Amino acid sequence: MTLFIHEDPIMGLNYETEFDLRIMAGNDALITFEPGMTRPGFSGETFTKVRCTLVDTSIGATTIDIVANAQYTDVLIFPKHYSDQYNDLLATTATMVIEGPGHIFSDPPDVYGFINSRIYYDATPVPEALIDEVFWLVKDASGNCIDMPRYVILFHELAHAADPLFLTNTILPEEVKAKTDSEEVNTRWQENQLRIEMGLPERDYDLSRSIDLQIMTKRQAKNTNWCP
Ligand SMILES: [Zn+2]
Repeated sequence: MTLFIHEDPIMGLNYETEFDLRIMAGNDALITFEPGMTRPGFSGETFTKVRCTLVDTSIGATTIDIVANAQYTDVLIFPKHYSDQYNDLLATTATMVIEGPGHIFSDPPDVYGFINSRIYYDATPVPEALIDEVFWLVKDASGNCIDMPRYVILFHELAHAADPLFLTNTILPEEVKAKTDSEEVNTRWQENQLRIEMGLPERDYDLSRSIDLQIMTKRQAKNTNWCP
């Protein structure tokens, strides 16, 4: 089982996802893409399989490697345009609509221990003219707005997919595991390891300090004075 990208013949957003995976892996993994695959349950759709050979141990490369080479997961990435509203293709409730930068649906482990996940994220190629409008922002521990680049959004959701595997692989430090059982806290901690590697400011991962609105586009932030 492994990592796949949903192919989008009209907008070609799957190529944006390939780009994002290469950025987060840095030079620390050999990533290749195998297009034109099918997946059970998705008739008429094609997927690109992601192959990853770990060379070094950066968090970005390690996470892709864990997900792409896990024995018991099948993770499908669905890159979306920011103007899309979309349903999870396998959701039991037809009314489920996802808005925002990223979301993951994971099925409970089946009798063989397989955990299948579907990741949706905003893979819009942002034209120069819109950079100050549609980019996403989150907050650091002091309440300042910081950028949430597209590849960090995708990494965050991949880290959710890898979370059960991270815990058994003991990558998370004990103080983070002791702090809470929350998968979101674990995931944000992992996101911060990627941010450190990439020279980006760290995100607040203390959920007790966070209010419900934790992410906004630059345009929304401007309109609501969200950023101090
Ligand atoms: Zn999350």
